[in-house]
Amino acid sequence: MSDILTDVKKATGLSQEAIAALRTKIRGDLIQPGDPLYDTARKVYNAMIDKHPALIVRCVDTADVSSAVEFGYEQGLDIAVRGGSHNGPGLSSVEGGLVIDLSRMRGIHVDLEKKTVRVEGGALWGDVDHATYPFGLAVPTGFLSTTGVGGLTLGGGIGYLARRYGLTIDNLLSADIILADGCLVTASKDQNEDLFWAIRGGGGNFGVVTSFLFQGRPVKTVYGGPMFWPLEDTADILAYWQDLILKAPDELNGWFGLVTVPPAAPFPEIYQLKKMCLITWCYTGPLEKAEEVFKPIRSFRQPAIDFTGPIPLPTLQSMFDPIYPAGLQWYWKADFIIRYTDDAIDVHVKYGKLLPTPHSTMHIYPINGAAARVGKRDTAWGYRNANFTQVIVGVDPDPANNERMIRWARDYAQDLHPYSLGGGYVNMIMDEGQEGVKAAYGENYTRLAQIKAKYDPNNLFHINQNIIPKM
Ligand SMILES: Cc1cc2nc3c(=O)[nH]c(=O)nc-3n(C[C@H](O)[C@H](O)[C@H](O)COP(=O)(O)OP(=O)(O)OC[C@H]3O[C@@H](n4cnc5c(N)ncnc54)[C@H](O)[C@@H]3O)c2cc1C
Repeated sequence: MSDILTDVKKATGLSQEAIAALRTKIRGDLIQPGDPLYDTARKVYNAMIDKHPALIVRCVDTADVSSAVEFGYEQGLDIAVRGGSHNGPGLSSVEGGLVIDLSRMRGIHVDLEKKTVRVEGGALWGDVDHATYPFGLAVPTGFLSTTGVGGLTLGGGIGYLARRYGLTIDNLLSADIILADGCLVTASKDQNEDLFWAIRGGGGNFGVVTSFLFQGRPVKTVYGGPMFWPLEDTADILAYWQDLILKAPDELNGWFGLVTVPPAAPFPEIYQLKKMCLITWCYTGPLEKAEEVFKPIRSFRQPAIDFTGPIPLPTLQSMFDPIYPAGLQWYWKADFIIRYTDDAIDVHVKYGKLLPTPHSTMHIYPINGAAARVGKRDTAWGYRNANFTQVIVGVDPDPANNERMIRWARDYAQDLHPYSLGGGYVNMIMDEGQEGVKAAYGENYTRLAQIKAKYDPNNLFHINQNIIPKM
């Protein structure tokens, strides 16, 4: 051990005594440069990010988190907090600093009487689905099961149930948080109400959430899955889908996308590696009515591939996991949209033809319905007037394609930006800097900065889409 500590001191300037003292307080793991686990532990989902923290503390409980925060503060380290590590710009790691890694804190407790779900801060959404599905409950989440509960929730949370039950934050009842001074507080509508407002959209700016309490919703089997059409149909399908979703009952959700069909079963060979447009549906109304609901959709334009039917919600939520394993290169661009004009649709048509790599894609997620019935000032997530979140992502296994796919994503986003509300979803932006963070929060930024000044005046938690404290 002393060899490793010497390496650490040389590499990071951390003293052996300080690390030894921390070790007595932590039940989880301390992982340092030179440790056999280090190279695996420092990896994040986006392989474009390659950071070398001085120390990774894999916490197992709230006390570990508190000790780690105090240690980071005392040692003057930059602190990154890791939930599921899905963050695009890799903000769950930090060069030369401390990573507080929650990936061993994935416990879940379902209360069937209250229909609530308590989730530890490092759980993944697949953990939540696994724990709730047998009991006919679901928490509104994202479109993949491998994303972390921590980052997705604190940034907002857009998924298949958003039109029916709102964003993930609209289903958050309370959170336990370790603040910058190492203290533990609960934020809810009755306790630290300003903090509760801020964490519903304000990201990891206010502290480390060790536990979330969610309202479960009665969802089990839905009618959903993707329908694909030829790329030439993009303009017609996008316009049809937009009109439909703007008027649809809350039970009907479906995101629109531009994709390349994967080269494997169950996709028919004739379509494999073809660029196509798709809608991935999730209907949570009565199953016996589903065929009727989808009849006009299918007869508007017969899909080339139709995988839509009755499906357990967790199966739908994990359907795209295998296409996007950890370790790919990712570059993100996002915007909020009220309505696509014909000209904006033409931009999608243009860039759909130019998808630069088979994994690269563009998705438009509906956020009208229940998500839009929450007031703009009721949570930190300010774009309640938007109907859609749009995300453009260049994705590929090979870093040699980065320049090409980044250029595509930037050009595409730039051409569509004039049709947007001016900001993007904080969980889907990349390297836009302070202006991007301000734009992501719009008129709620000022209040967020004031609450940040109250709970984290020294900006200890600044490895995130950072809100600068300002009274
Ligand atoms: C493949 C993929 C699919 C996605 N799909 C969706 C989707 O369907 N809907 C959607 O809304 N978003 C989606 N996202 C975006 C996602 O919400 C963000 O990437 C989010 O930051 C991921 O959270 P995480 O915990 O996995 O990430 P991390 O990288 O671990 O954390 C992200 C940020 O949150 C902070 N954080 C994480 N956990 C905590 C905690 N417990 N306490 C305090 N701070 C914390 C981190 O410090 C960091 O700043 C997707 C991302 C990817 C890569």
